[in-house]
Amino acid sequence: MSYEKREQLYEGKAKKVYATDDPQVVIVSYKDDATAFNGLKKGTITGKGAINNRMTNNLMRRLEEKGVPTHYVEELSDRETAVKKVSIVPLEVIVRNISAGSFAKRYGVEEGIVFDEPTIEFSYKNDDLGDPLLNTYHALALKLATKEEIALIEKYTFMVNDLLKGFMKEIGIDLVDFKLEFGKTADGTIVLADEISPDTCRLWDEKTHEKLDKDRFRRDMGGAEEAYEEVMRRLMGE
Ligand code: UDP
Repeated sequence: MSYEKREQLYEGKAKKVYATDDPQVVIVSYKDDATAFNGLKKGTITGKGAINNRMTNNLMRRLEEKGVPTHYVEELSDRETAVKKVSIVPLEVIVRNISAGSFAKRYGVEEGIVFDEPTIEFSYKNDDLGDPLLNTYHALALKLATKEEIALIEKYTFMVNDLLKGFMKEIGIDLVDFKLEFGKTADGTIVLADEISPDTCRLWDEKTHEKLDKDRFRRDMGGAEEAYEEVMRRLMGE
């Protein structure tokens, strides 16, 4: 079964979404556009769209095999993938295994502290408000999800962390932290959605601790293209 793009439904910072003839399926198209700091910093990482598309699909297929339900349907091309149409739960779910980024800043600690246990946190997915941090009580008060949905999201998130840490370890990478988004299909099923890529994960080489992720763009370090390609090469052997 293959799907054809119909009208554009949405354009986000890194992806466009198109309708298909199947009301249950949409097509995501990954762009090379990169943004950081809630859209304040803009740029391009050449080749990123294709890498993030193919890497996300590779990881989603492997997560699905291990029992994490995902929105993945079919890879259509380098940049385009058919996924289940979902309404996105407006929570950004962040897991951390090692201190970095806003955690290090918020709590005044250095980057690189390896935690005994992973942490989980939620942000309210709302660009106008700058994605403020919230806890599950706040999420319930704002009716962003039900208690049962949040419990399921937490369960899937820790499963993803265990699996993803393993997939990355196999290719010599430490999974520092990452962000997940979940969606709800028409029948109310919670599935993993959005992407899993160097845009949404911090990935450090386990030996050199070299950054292989979007921090190279955020921090003007250079070599973002090469870093994304390196992760792709290790993951998919190309
Ligand atoms: N992250 C993301 N989108 C966001 C915020 C964070 O994908 O809008 C990812 C980010 O790439 C990192 C993790 O979530 O892997 C934790 O990010 P953090 O809270 O440290 O924020 P940052 O330092 O990126 O602003």
